[in-house]
Amino acid sequence: MGEHREESSREPGDIKSYRISVFLVDDQPMIAEAVRRALVEEDLDFHYCQDPTDAVKIATELKPTIILQDLVMPEIDGLTMVKFYRANPVLAQVPIIVLSTKEEPEIKSRAFENGANDYIVKLPDKMELVARIRYHSQAYISQRQRDEAFEALMKSQRELAEANAILEKLSSLDGLTGIPNRRRFDEVLKAEWHRAMRHSTSLSLIMLDIDFFKLYNDSYGHQGGDDCLIQVARILDETANRETDIVARYGGEEFAAVLPETGSKGAYEVAEAMRSNIEKADIPHKSSKVAEYVSISVGVATWVPERDSQPEEIIELADKALYKAKESGRNQVISSGIQME
Ligand code: GH3
Ligand code: MG
Ligand code: MG
Repeated sequence: MGEHREESSREPGDIKSYRISVFLVDDQPMIAEAVRRALVEEDLDFHYCQDPTDAVKIATELKPTIILQDLVMPEIDGLTMVKFYRANPVLAQVPIIVLSTKEEPEIKSRAFENGANDYIVKLPDKMELVARIRYHSQAYISQRQRDEAFEALMKSQRELAEANAILEKLSSLDGLTGIPNRRRFDEVLKAEWHRAMRHSTSLSLIMLDIDFFKLYNDSYGHQGGDDCLIQVARILDETANRETDIVARYGGEEFAAVLPETGSKGAYEVAEAMRSNIEKADIPHKSSKVAEYVSISVGVATWVPERDSQPEEIIELADKALYKAKESGRNQVISSGIQME
């Protein structure tokens, strides 16, 4: 039997090469010998099976690129064999040439009906036999290569999608601004919330949003908007300078800061410093309705978390304060005012 196939690497785009492999099933060794001789000088593998009861099993192991099936055999009819090959998932697509002693249109037609691809009268001329074997094998090999290339492509697409999902999960930084992202913010807030609960310390949250940022994009383009977000993120990050403070991109043009062990007075000061540092940066914003430069509206909330309370409560409070800052004219800080100390 021996190797009849060269497997190469499974990179997408790499095409596995196949050798032509002929599998002959005939009860007469004399025919096998004649076929073997006809093929001996060809660059292909030749396998012979005399007993049709073994044929399907051997063929599934060999995975030939063509089956030559004798039509008349003592134990089993060749056309039944064709049906067996077709019903086998490994062999279903392998081309089959039926070998017959007679040229009979009716049998030929039945052979094709049963799934044969070709019909040859024994013993065929060497050149014709080789030409048919090559033609059918090549068509089969090409189809397999197309199927495998498609499968490899699908596989690499799946792997890429999985890798991206994992990367995204692992990543804690916002892709645009490089500061912690929303996921990281949620994690930190939750952890700090529980810590503050255990130690009965206060926790502050700052939520802020750039004023008239839609108009900024309209005036300076989306790329200009992105550059502005990067600058704002850097300023905010530099302003909250305690080691335990974190400033995150909450989404779009909204940012949030978690300030552990910080009371409302301290948090208000940090928030006001953020607002004023953004103002001082003097990033031109010609279409803003509150200033000539980029400004932010800021909401602050401070809380000493009680047992069974949830971090969402402080988010809601800071969000409400932010909304008030917007309503009251923007470019300002509003503190929720609850639990001042
Ligand atoms: P307001 O003062 O009430 O906050 O007005 P606004 O225009 O800032 O608010 P709105 O929520 O209507 O618009 C926010 C805009 O922010 C819309 C969106 O196109 C823009 N934006 C969100 N994320 C990004 C981003 O990643 N890059 C850029 N360039 N723009 C963004
Ligand atoms: Mg917004
Ligand atoms: Mg805005």
